[in-house]
Amino acid sequence: MLYQRSSALFKDAEQVIPGGVNSPVRAFKAVGGTPIFAKSAKGAYVYDEDDNRYIDYINSWGPMLLGHAYQPVVDAVIAKAKQGTSFGMPTEIETKIAELAVSMVPNIDKIRFVNSGTEACMSAVRLARGYTGKEKIIKFAGCYHGHSDAFLIQAGSGAVTFGSPNSPGVTQGTAKDTLLATYNDIDNVNALVDANKGEIACIIIEPVAGNMGCVPPKNNFLKALRTICDQNDILLIFDEVMTGFRLAKGGVQELYNVDADIVCFGKVVGGGLPVGAFAARNEIMSHLAPLGNVYQAGTLSGNPLAMAAGLAMLTSINSDQDLFKRLADKTKYLHEGCANALNKYHVVHTINRKGSMISIHFAEDEVVDFDSAAKGNNETFKAFFHGMLNEGIYIAPSAFETWFITDALSYEDLDETIRAVEKVAQTL
Ligand SMILES: *Cc1c(COP(=O)(O)O)cnc(C)c1O
Repeated sequence: MLYQRSSALFKDAEQVIPGGVNSPVRAFKAVGGTPIFAKSAKGAYVYDEDDNRYIDYINSWGPMLLGHAYQPVVDAVIAKAKQGTSFGMPTEIETKIAELAVSMVPNIDKIRFVNSGTEACMSAVRLARGYTGKEKIIKFAGCYHGHSDAFLIQAGSGAVTFGSPNSPGVTQGTAKDTLLATYNDIDNVNALVDANKGEIACIIIEPVAGNMGCVPPKNNFLKALRTICDQNDILLIFDEVMTGFRLAKGGVQELYNVDADIVCFGKVVGGGLPVGAFAARNEIMSHLAPLGNVYQAGTLSGNPLAMAAGLAMLTSINSDQDLFKRLADKTKYLHEGCANALNKYHVVHTINRKGSMISIHFAEDEVVDFDSAAKGNNETFKAFFHGMLNEGIYIAPSAFETWFITDALSYEDLDETIRAVEKVAQTL
């Protein structure tokens, strides 16, 4: 494939934007080469500035659950834009999407909309601290909760890809309040809680992790966390920025039948526009300003275009009874096809999958936490990434990312992908 225009555009971008990108995961630093510049996208395909077509498995890093330029979302945004793009006053559509979200997700009474997943997680932790009057938090190595200071401690995908899991600029004071636990290791969590009795406000987790590849929770891990939280007056925060409205209508709470105290959303909830949200029972949400004194605000929060996109997205998801089964079936088909192709050429690998999330790890052992994810062979991944790109398949340029399956993918697209994996596997 030719990438002339992308390469030229990247050179221009590098002059005025750090690293040429507005979010580091878009750079090709971990795999070499220069990023592809997107021109347009429709359904399962993205087209670059050189008019190459790719089957897209990034899908804007998750939001495009129903495919690119999904018509109901596009129509809703255009119609809203004609009525004004922002008011800084309450609008009816904010209540509409809040009502729908609260009806879809178990165990929440109220939801507050913000502009990104980062903001949602940052605000959720502030609320947990304000509610419990305690300061420390527990997070898991390899889980990503956005780029606010408290979370940039062993932060998964982007941060790991760029070799700075613990970012400079985060003060010692902030870092000491974030305790780091091992995913899927309940003894480790117990030990941390015991060593910090009465000091922990919340445990925040990606309940199905997606930022060290896809790593589902082991049997009863989430239930055990729930028990520890109940016994120690700790709030359990499910960061469902990736999994919310993707793995089930009600997210991981529904899927694993475990209640969280605060749930964070992003990605799918905005239908491709910048939206995040956090939600909880009344008892907790009543501590938030203007009802309570935990402050949180946003000039563009609940923006009408963003809410229109999100509402159209959630409405489609809510009215489609087969969606999650279709997505899971497609992902399983892809899993089996990729495994066969890699096995045929004896490529050492492990594939993890949950619903519409899947990741291929070039590692021998089971991938259950950050350490096992980090054992993957990055040289193999680099070759795989570029091989796939050359075959017109766009996966994330990092070994620590999940592939996002969209409903727009046809079985022909999946077969084309599997054929590409087989072709590339021969070269690994
Ligand atoms: C993407 C992501 C975030 C951050 O969301 P942004 O919108 O990029 O700020 C937080 N948590 C998880 C689990 C994510 O996948």
